[in-house]
Amino acid sequence: MASSFKLILPSDRMERLQYIRRMFPQAKGRNLIETWQGGRKQALTRLSEVDAVTYGRNRNFINGAVTRLSPYLRYGCLTLQEVSDNVLHRFGKQQSARLISELAYRDYWRQNWYRHGNAIFSDMEDAKVPLGENLLPAYISQGITGLPCMDEVIRSLFNEGYVHNHARMWFAAYVVHWLKVDWRKAADWFESHLLDGDIASNHLSWQWVASTFSSKPYYFNKQSLARFTGEKFCASCRVSCPFDDDYETLSKNLFPNVQTRTKKVYPIKMPEKMAISQHSSVSVYIHDEMLSPTNPLTKLAMPKFFVFDEEMYDEWPLKRIQFIADCLSEMPEVEVWLGDTRSVLLENGVGQVISQNTPNLQIKSMLSPFNPIWQEEEKFTKADVSLKRLERFSRYWEKVQPDILGGDTE
Ligand SMILES: Cc1cc2nc3c(=O)[nH]c(=O)nc-3n(C[C@H](O)[C@H](O)[C@H](O)COP(=O)(O)OP(=O)(O)OC[C@H]3O[C@@H](n4cnc5c(N)ncnc54)[C@H](O)[C@@H]3O)c2cc1C
Repeated sequence: MASSFKLILPSDRMERLQYIRRMFPQAKGRNLIETWQGGRKQALTRLSEVDAVTYGRNRNFINGAVTRLSPYLRYGCLTLQEVSDNVLHRFGKQQSARLISELAYRDYWRQNWYRHGNAIFSDMEDAKVPLGENLLPAYISQGITGLPCMDEVIRSLFNEGYVHNHARMWFAAYVVHWLKVDWRKAADWFESHLLDGDIASNHLSWQWVASTFSSKPYYFNKQSLARFTGEKFCASCRVSCPFDDDYETLSKNLFPNVQTRTKKVYPIKMPEKMAISQHSSVSVYIHDEMLSPTNPLTKLAMPKFFVFDEEMYDEWPLKRIQFIADCLSEMPEVEVWLGDTRSVLLENGVGQVISQNTPNLQIKSMLSPFNPIWQEEEKFTKADVSLKRLERFSRYWEKVQPDILGGDTE
């Protein structure tokens, strides 16, 4: 990027979306659709519509009462604690337990990101089954697999940037186990199209499917997919279905030999080292996980900067940048810049930044020349994922559940 400059986000939403489109001509994909307006106001509206009871009954069904809160949690418009408090208040412990356990899932992946840092981009454990190393086929990135169920996943990914959790699991299993694509390549690609794209939830979920962060691979069959989609795809599907078998036969076909691999390490690009800033002023650095006007750091009486940095956000789809712009438009005290983070901070005489702690080491390394002070983010649980026995979610949930739900859920 040649130079850095300040963005003036239009207050009118349509103008803002078009403005972002003009300012980010390289950003891939479609515009953010109407139903996905970013920001805290919209997040609170969605939260008020959450139905934890129906969620508990049908979340695994493709048309179930899922919350669609993930982008709002991802960018910090809402915290896990706020969602948990809200549903506990409205529905009580027993009825909220299922939804809260899913919130804890997000927390669990995030705690693992804090603990393992960039290692989550590589195999966390030895694979339990043979894994492939194929590139992502062009027909996946074009959305034409020939399988209506998988094409629908890619269509939602491209149109909305949102995919139901069960569909994400099916798609990841199809790509990793049937097509034998290298999980990391697939995970990077998938994340780069999601509105809620989150390194921990995404990459660790792909590893969970692949079996490099779980005790067995995840795969599924036609019967299961048909059940949870209400036959939506299977009833009229005319192709020879690769998923149409019992689990034993599928396992034999998918994993014909026992040759597994030991942990594979994948490279990760980090910002270059730079000398410490000689300036004296202190500013708040707003990053992409703290986009709420209620974030405590926005209350500090000092300049606040958010930078759309090419190095960090190069792979982001247009809709994600537009969503973030919606969030930032509710935070008028924040200066929004486009360019190189370090140049922006230096140009503005910044010697030190205060920011919210993050497991994202790219952000941390980017800010290292500015003697950063990291304020802890609100904690959802107190569990320590460095304990060996908490390295699987089920045990983690067992441990944190009494704290969150206050013990007995009856
Ligand atoms: C391959 C794969 C990739 C994924 N990539 C992402 C990602 O990039 N970003 C992301 O936020 N989630 C990711 N998930 C987790 C999950 O699919 C989404 O959080 C969920 O589908 C979001 O929809 P929702 O808000 O309607 O979820 P709901 O079912 O309504 O759940 C409420 C909230 O709980 C959390 N949650 C629910 N299920 C999970 C889960 N399995 N893991 C972690 N948190 C969960 C989310 O924050 C979600 O917003 C991925 C899952 C898989 C299998």
